[in-house]
Amino acid sequence: MDHIVLKPDLWVVGGGEMGLTHWLDCHIYLLQTNAGTVLIDAGGGIDTSRLIRNIKRLPGELAGKLRFLWLTHCHGDHAGGVHVLCNEFPGLEVITSPHEATMLERGTDNELGLTQARYAGTYPEDFTVTRCKVHSRTAHGQQWQLGRHVMTSWITPGHTAGSVCFDVDGPHGRYLFSGDTVFRGGLIQLLNTPGSEISAYRETAFNILSRLHPDCLFPGHGMWVVEEGWKHLQKCIHYFKKSGPPPMPAYVEKVW
Ligand SMILES: [Zn+2]
Repeated sequence: MDHIVLKPDLWVVGGGEMGLTHWLDCHIYLLQTNAGTVLIDAGGGIDTSRLIRNIKRLPGELAGKLRFLWLTHCHGDHAGGVHVLCNEFPGLEVITSPHEATMLERGTDNELGLTQARYAGTYPEDFTVTRCKVHSRTAHGQQWQLGRHVMTSWITPGHTAGSVCFDVDGPHGRYLFSGDTVFRGGLIQLLNTPGSEISAYRETAFNILSRLHPDCLFPGHGMWVVEEGWKHLQKCIHYFKKSGPPPMPAYVEKVW
């Protein structure tokens, strides 16, 4: 298997959890629009060749129309593959928030959370993120018209200082690509790394997630949701109204 069909305009082309690509890779989605193909996140970069093969095997010349890479944040399992994809697909435009762009271009290992992830064994000891150029910095609430799809970027601090949720309104529904900000069941991923802050997370939940109404929730890890995605955001807000931190999954791990 080299991809999973989620919607008429959306595929999963990479992800370690389901064995599509290297175990370290987050879910990597591919969205087809009339204005070009979009990848959401890039995986860890340890073995991006399988991801590239999967993209090239999709029907409809989608690989040849690849135009954008939307990056939810710069943790290694999402951003390590950016430089490989940019080499493979010249002209690919990498888009993320101003903060995450700075991190990918010149963040230190500490700022990227690499030091702690290596120590914890989340990433291999020799794992690194190759710093590379981000072509466009998207602002909070900025809209991008892509044919019949409209993408709005929401900057949602909490998991990292500049995490982005990509909110897509298109012919097959409203999709929220939430990265590691919010998962199925309203779970979050607060880390003991620079930039991960529960107070910022709480503000994100109350002021941003509360206003979104996606049909589908497509997170960076765990199961996706294709109906009433907004209910999972409401569950997240419910957890943030309590006094303790919301429940968290631990998705990124080697299983053997
Ligand atoms: Zn992350």
